Amino acid sequence: MLFSRVFLKFLIPSGLLFGGACFLVFKTGFPSAIQPFLPFYPWLAAGAGLLLGWRFNRSRLIFVILILAACEWSISLRPYLPMKEFIYQAAAFLVPLNLAFIGFWRERGLLTWIALLRIGWLGGQCFGVWWLFHWNAEQVVGWLNWSIVKWPLLSQVPLEQPALAISLLCGLVLLFRYSFVAKPMEGGLFWGLIAAVLAFCMPQMMTFWFSTTIFILLIAVVETTFSMAFNDELTGLPARRAMNEHLMKLGRKFTVAMVDIDHFKKVNDKHGHDVGDQVLCMVASCLRQVTGGGRVFRYGGEEFAVIFPGKTVEETLPHLEELRERIARSSFVLRGRNRPRKKPEKVSRQKPVGKKLQVTASIGVAERSEKNSETPQVIKAADQALYRAKKGGRNRVCC
Ligand code: GH3
Ligand code: MG
Ligand code: MG
Repeated sequence: MLFSRVFLKFLIPSGLLFGGACFLVFKTGFPSAIQPFLPFYPWLAAGAGLLLGWRFNRSRLIFVILILAACEWSISLRPYLPMKEFIYQAAAFLVPLNLAFIGFWRERGLLTWIALLRIGWLGGQCFGVWWLFHWNAEQVVGWLNWSIVKWPLLSQVPLEQPALAISLLCGLVLLFRYSFVAKPMEGGLFWGLIAAVLAFCMPQMMTFWFSTTIFILLIAVVETTFSMAFNDELTGLPARRAMNEHLMKLGRKFTVAMVDIDHFKKVNDKHGHDVGDQVLCMVASCLRQVTGGGRVFRYGGEEFAVIFPGKTVEETLPHLEELRERIARSSFVLRGRNRPRKKPEKVSRQKPVGKKLQVTASIGVAERSEKNSETPQVIKAADQALYRAKKGGRNRVCC
């Protein structure tokens, strides 16, 4: 389930955009209706990318635009023809490397020391290419054209073998990275890298493919912003804004359950905010397993909401009881001070040394009815039921 969600996020929208570009280039060609707009595509992609990068403080997008614009500009330097060929070969090698490298950068904003250092790093590469050209262009071109293996199939690939090898390696690295950090920008960088590699395979379409790389990343930034607004970063659950939208789509029959962790302030006070955060994640993962068609949201703080479309309170009670029990049963083990740093080679049959933390939650439920016909009234009724559950001794479901 989680794997298919991550895989789908990898394909949509970045993979889809890349697929669409391939379809236009390799299958149908550009329809005459869109041909007049093609000259505007790079300007639109770069302009919108720079604007979004600046407004949302997304420096990685800006850096990719700078790198690709620098390549495009320097390769189009017509008077210095030998240098142009040299830059082309060096760029085919360096662009994939830089995209993979950027995949590991943390977003550190635009007007910071780190950003300056990164600009220095990019400037250093430009200087390096210029210096290598003047040092011994022939020797360097020899390295860049090195035939590592003599497979006849490879001679048909319009990329020199070192550039091809580094592109493959960087693609694998970005794929590996995505399997750990499944975020839109990480997926976008992988597809953007393939588009950039195609730019070097098809020099006559370089501008189109570079623009596609930028377009993919710019959509990834929009996705990131959307995800920040609608998802809770800590637990990964959809947040209150998503819940409000979900409630608007529901029919006349639905039930809302408000879930609140018991004595959570004490957990924070006694064990620290970090342990508090871990408890929140643990409760969120219990709630995620809700049955009966319920959808879970982080309502705010240590409160969650479960919404059951098309169900009455009566019908949801067994599912909510199961959730409450699941939370009470799940033992949260605190890391002991003398817990070994390394995993022991032999698994001990003894129970874990860490102290167990008992976590429970109270749940208040209400359904849409004639009395509570508006959504805020249903939420308020569920809140009042939650209050009764707390007053009644906690760790219970009240309606
Ligand atoms: P009750 O059983 O009546 O619900 O008591 P409680 O202590 O759970 O409720 P209270 O509203 O007094 O405290 C909620 C605490 O949740 C206060 C706040 O610091 C903490 N909290 C809210 N959001 C977060 C968060 O994201 N992380 C952590 N660690 N704590 C949070
Ligand atoms: Mg609360
Ligand atoms: Mg609480």
